[in-house]
Amino acid sequence: MKAYWWIRDDMRRENNPTLEAALAWRKRTGGLLQAVCFQRPSDAISLSEYPKPLPRTSAIRQSYERACLQSLAATLVSMDISTISVSEDILFWMTKQNAESIFFTYGCAHEEVEEEKALMDMGFQTHGFYSRTLLEPAQVFESPLPQTYTPFRKRTESLLQLEAFSEILPYLGPARLSAPFSPTESQARAHLYTYVAENGPGRTYKARRNGLLQPQDSTKLSAYLSLGLLHPKEVWNRCLYVEKLLGGCEEIYWIRFELLWREYFQWVAYEAGPRLFLPEGLQSKGLVAPKVGNVDAFERWTQGRTGDALVDAAMRELAATGFQSNRARQNAASYWIHDLNQPWRVGAAYFEAMLLDFDAASNWGNWAYLAGVGNDPRPFRKFNTQKQADQYDPDKSYRLTWST
Ligand SMILES: Cc1cc2nc3c(=O)[nH]c(=O)nc-3n(C[C@H](O)[C@H](O)[C@H](O)COP(=O)(O)OP(=O)(O)OC[C@H]3O[C@@H](n4cnc5c(N)ncnc54)[C@H](O)[C@@H]3O)c2cc1C
Repeated sequence: MKAYWWIRDDMRRENNPTLEAALAWRKRTGGLLQAVCFQRPSDAISLSEYPKPLPRTSAIRQSYERACLQSLAATLVSMDISTISVSEDILFWMTKQNAESIFFTYGCAHEEVEEEKALMDMGFQTHGFYSRTLLEPAQVFESPLPQTYTPFRKRTESLLQLEAFSEILPYLGPARLSAPFSPTESQARAHLYTYVAENGPGRTYKARRNGLLQPQDSTKLSAYLSLGLLHPKEVWNRCLYVEKLLGGCEEIYWIRFELLWREYFQWVAYEAGPRLFLPEGLQSKGLVAPKVGNVDAFERWTQGRTGDALVDAAMRELAATGFQSNRARQNAASYWIHDLNQPWRVGAAYFEAMLLDFDAASNWGNWAYLAGVGNDPRPFRKFNTQKQADQYDPDKSYRLTWST
């Protein structure tokens, strides 16, 4: 008897209900449990509004994901679980296996949900668990999903109370507080426990989160959450725990505020299905005519040669590290859409290829939002990049760091 743990964006040993269920199956049946991970396709993608194929994933992103998988596989060996890395399509590969059960963590974006349905249709015994999100569909869709973030936050915040598991996790020693991200779960956890601590940098998070350059300006937890080295509840609970110790702390509360943005985008994507990825996004207004992207503008933007120093710094940072702060992303994306007047999906696809913390719901949801076709009451959000540079990079240190 054989079962697979299909590793998706839940690359961790601890706080992983999918792995726990698979281990319980092994104990119950005495069967063979293997882990399998499907590499993301690396072929180019074509969009109707751009004349050339676009890269699907970058070398830097591939290498980070590979390192995360290697680290997890090493942990699994000690649990007597071997890991297979497969470059074929999951459905094609699964048809060739004779497995009884497949354990996996549910996704929220369209392609992920389609893969899950297809596996079920193929007759496998599937066992799905929610652990990429703080909430589950039954909680979220008890009433209609709000069209904007604030009512969602108000409705869900009180549902999420402190849970016991965060308090019993060991403190694993200080971590290096910077991107690029570590590929190991224990380092990710150590980073969380160092950043969100009684005297940790999280105590100034709200004031500094718009900073462009310093590692401690924001949590740098995004890749850990996107690839699942940490469960979002672990982050949520850690914040609540430290807030409680401090008798309340607005700065750390704000990390939870941002985590709920992530959560909101997950459920928006879940509800929208394929619509999130259409040129007209979530709005049913219908576009007048789809714009056609300009190859020269794309090359100048991606290579950091637009002439706008803030945007150029942001795009060079992205190309070199696979990361940009939230403020840099907002400016770079707004510039592409509203200053260069280019199709938003082309920019979103480029970010998808480059970001180490790529998450379909957060990336496409934020892009759609900025383009005015997402969950935003405003028609569109144009950032004045000159003003933003003056405000968030007054001494030019960010622009100078990424000037070449
Ligand atoms: C155009 C654009 C594309 C983006 N693409 C992604 C993406 O692919 N993956 C991704 O994780 N985030 C994305 N974001 C959101 C945000 O920029 C990053 O999560 C954040 O910069 C990561 O750094 P941090 O962990 O230090 O964030 P912090 O400021 O420390 O925030 C804590 C956590 O909250 C979540 N979060 C914060 N802001 C947002 C937001 N606006 N939307 C969703 N979640 C948020 C993240 O999980 C983050 O790790 C995008 C934002 C924009 C404007």
